[in-house]
Amino acid sequence: MAVQKTEVVNSSSGLSRQMSKSTQDILRQVTTPEIVIGLCGPVGSPLVECAKILDDQLRTTFNYDVLVIRLSKFIEELSGTKVPASGFERFNTLINKGNELRNNYGNSILAEMAIKDIAVYRRTRKFEEPSEEVAIGRYVPSRTAFIINSLKNTEELSLLREVYGESFFLLGVSSGMQARVNKLKTQMNESELWQLIDRDSGEESKSGQSIRKIFHKSDYFITYDSPQDDLMRRKTVRFLNLCFRSEIETPTFMEQAMFAAYSASLNSACLSRQVGATLVDLCESRILSIGWNDVPKSGGGVYLNRTGNHDDSRCYNLASKRCYNDHEKSEMVQLIIDELQKNECLKDGQDLQVRGILMNGRIGQLLEFSRAVHAEMLALINARSVQFGGGVQLGLFTTTYPCHNCARHLVAAGVKRVYYIEPYRKSLAVKLHDDSIEESDEDENGVKMRLLQYEGAAPVRFETFFAASDRKREDGSVLATAKTSVETVKPFKLESIPIIEGMIVKHLENKSVVKL
Ligand SMILES: [Zn+2]
Repeated sequence: MAVQKTEVVNSSSGLSRQMSKSTQDILRQVTTPEIVIGLCGPVGSPLVECAKILDDQLRTTFNYDVLVIRLSKFIEELSGTKVPASGFERFNTLINKGNELRNNYGNSILAEMAIKDIAVYRRTRKFEEPSEEVAIGRYVPSRTAFIINSLKNTEELSLLREVYGESFFLLGVSSGMQARVNKLKTQMNESELWQLIDRDSGEESKSGQSIRKIFHKSDYFITYDSPQDDLMRRKTVRFLNLCFRSEIETPTFMEQAMFAAYSASLNSACLSRQVGATLVDLCESRILSIGWNDVPKSGGGVYLNRTGNHDDSRCYNLASKRCYNDHEKSEMVQLIIDELQKNECLKDGQDLQVRGILMNGRIGQLLEFSRAVHAEMLALINARSVQFGGGVQLGLFTTTYPCHNCARHLVAAGVKRVYYIEPYRKSLAVKLHDDSIEESDEDENGVKMRLLQYEGAAPVRFETFFAASDRKREDGSVLATAKTSVETVKPFKLESIPIIEGMIVKHLENKSVVKL
């Protein structure tokens, strides 16, 4: 809807004049095309190569200034340690010193330092004093991109999302295990590299880094095995095109299938987690059925939302209002404690400690007492009405890595490939079924079912990436903004960001980490 031009009376002269700008135009002036891209990926992934492509493309195609911020730089600066240039000792020192810093200054310290760098950079930009149109002084909008390499934990991610909102994008970059091993092999020996891969994926200490906990929260996923190829550049450019909506892009089949899985997951009333799955025909790129985790209902299917109808016996709706899986595990632990006490194996007051130990161990990981049918299983069951003709190759897209129970049913159903976003540590799928399941896509002639990292737009960011804005002019021709002047869909407000950044810088000063 067009905003009306306002006629104002200049009281001193008594002359009226037409304001040249609409209110929307004025508000648009307080936004800035700045974009903040965080990278994350398991050790050995081509993050540096990806940052280089982003840097190059943003400058040459999108007319941006680029500031690449390496978080490892802050580890060296703050700890005063000279980190070796390469090799196992480099990674090891960075992880140790990084943990020390998080321990001393809080888990988001490295992201705070990145924000400080952005704030410092902003202070070098042109500042505009208050005027007729600008209520308070502000920085002049600039086409600047900040690339942060690389994020390691949840607190860093939350802080950057909190400050930069929709203008922050997390790009998850990964390679298959073999490619990562090959890359690391040039820098360290076999035992060192496995130690590093294990440590990088997730540490138990609270201040430890944990790629495993943030990778699946990426806004976009790129997988690639040999970064010297042009394919990586093309994949990275598609991500940028989506951030700026600079070309008409529609979802790939993979993205459609994962989005269907995500939307199915929202049907779940499970108290533990919401998982969705889409069963597809890989040959025809056709969706066959969807499923989500929920309690089965007699007569077939699972309970659904029925407003005003009480035929809903999902856990949240039962008198006990509790998760049956948790309850059963808790009872199992209590039985063990009772037995130990009866046999005088426990001293007084030790029961709570023993309960903690047992629940944190393998018993806590049990999942068989849940009342829900899992998403993958429901997708298979729902597909029973679909007639598979000859030559159908089954694939499954699931928001979460399948548990071993579902995985074995997927194998039995002849599924060839499974794509997932979020890992699921409790799953023993490969451990129990290494004869029929593998996580690698390298053997082209392999007959095992593959469990693979999903690639493409994150379903939670679908609207940002794909919902159409104005696509054509009045005469019907395609409306294309030059890439050198495109902006992200929801650019952030320059009148608030410097204040928020200033608060973080102040906090760093109070912690005596920096002095500006
Ligand atoms: Zn399952």
